[in-house]
Amino acid sequence: MSDFLPALANVTFAGHEVSPIAWGMWRFAGADLANARARIDAAFEAGVTLFDTADIYGCDTPGGFGSAEALLGDVFAEAPGLRDKMVLATKGGIILGVPYDSSARYLTSAIDISLKRLRTDHVELWQIHRPDLLSHPQEIARTLEEAHRAGKIGAIGVSNFTPAQTAALAKFLPVPVVSHQSEFSPLHLAPLFDGIFDQSMAEGMSFLAWSPLGGGRLGDPADEHTRAVAALLDAKAAEYGVSRAAATYSWVMAHPARPIPIVGTQNPDRIKEIPQAFAPRWTRAEWYAVLQTSMGENLP
Ligand code: NAP
Repeated sequence: MSDFLPALANVTFAGHEVSPIAWGMWRFAGADLANARARIDAAFEAGVTLFDTADIYGCDTPGGFGSAEALLGDVFAEAPGLRDKMVLATKGGIILGVPYDSSARYLTSAIDISLKRLRTDHVELWQIHRPDLLSHPQEIARTLEEAHRAGKIGAIGVSNFTPAQTAALAKFLPVPVVSHQSEFSPLHLAPLFDGIFDQSMAEGMSFLAWSPLGGGRLGDPADEHTRAVAALLDAKAAEYGVSRAAATYSWVMAHPARPIPIVGTQNPDRIKEIPQAFAPRWTRAEWYAVLQTSMGENLP
C-alpha cells in the first residue's frame, strides 16, 4: 500500500508554534512539589510545549476545586522560567452540583481567580469547559472579548461544544474561536461524525483530543472489544518498536484535522514515551481497520 498518511510537523496553535502533542493536568494532584515538577520536566524533555489544565481539575482530590491550577502555580513560583517556555491553556465554567455557569459575572471572576492560582497574568488559551445552556452566546462573547482585550486570555477555545454552539458563539466574537477540545480516541469516535472535525478543518480551528487512550482503557483493556482495538494498535507498535500508547497517539494524529492528543499519564517514564508517537505511519486500510473494529461494523 503506497498511500501512507502524511508526516507530522509542529502545528500552529492559538498563534503559537507548538509540538503536535500536549500534556494534560486533569490528574495532576498531590502536595509533593518535587514530584509535580518531575512530571512537568518530563513533558518538556519529551518536547511538549502545550499544557492543558482547568479550574475544576483536582476537585476529586483532597486539594479540591482549583488545586491542579494551584499546584502548577506553585511549580512556577519555584521555577519562574518554566511559565515562559509553555503555551498554557486552562478552562472554566463547570461548578460541581450546578453544573455549568458561563454568565458574565461568573466567567469574569473565574478567569481572574484562575490567573491568581496559576500565578501568571495571562494564559495563551482560555476555554469554556462545557456549554452552559442558560447563557446567551452574546453574553459569553462580550465577557471573553473583554478578558481578551485586557490581555488576560490570548485566545478563546471551546470544549465539548457542538458545531452549532461554536458557530453561535463565533457569530458574536470579533476574534476567532481558535480551538475545539472534545474526547477522541480509537475508543471514542464522535468528532469524526458529529461535524467537529469538519468544522475544525473548515474554520482553521485546532482540535485538542482529550482522553486519547480512552482515559486509560487502552492501557489496560478490560473487555473483548477494547482488546480487539488494542491488538491492531499493538501490531502497529510492534512494526515501529514503540509502545501501544505511542501507536494510539499516532492513530489520533493521522486524521487531517491534525488532532493534538492531550496525553494524560502522570508517570514520568510514560510521559517520556511521547516522542515515539512520531514514528508510526498508517496506511488508509490500517487506519480504517482500527476505526471499523472500534465501531464493530464495516463502513459501507
Ligand atoms: P488518557 O491518556 O486517555 O488516560 C490517561 C490515564 O491512562 C492515566 O490514568 C494513566 O495512568 C492511564 N494509563 C494506563 N496505561 C497507560 C499507558 N500505557 N500509557 C499512558 N497512560 C496509561 O487521558 P486522560 O488523562 O483521560 O485525559 C487527558 C487530558 O485530557 C486531561 O489531563 C485533560 O487535560 C484533558 N481532559 C479534558 C476533558 C474535557 O472535558 N475538556 C475531559 C477529560 C480530560 P498513569 O498516570 O498511571 O500513567
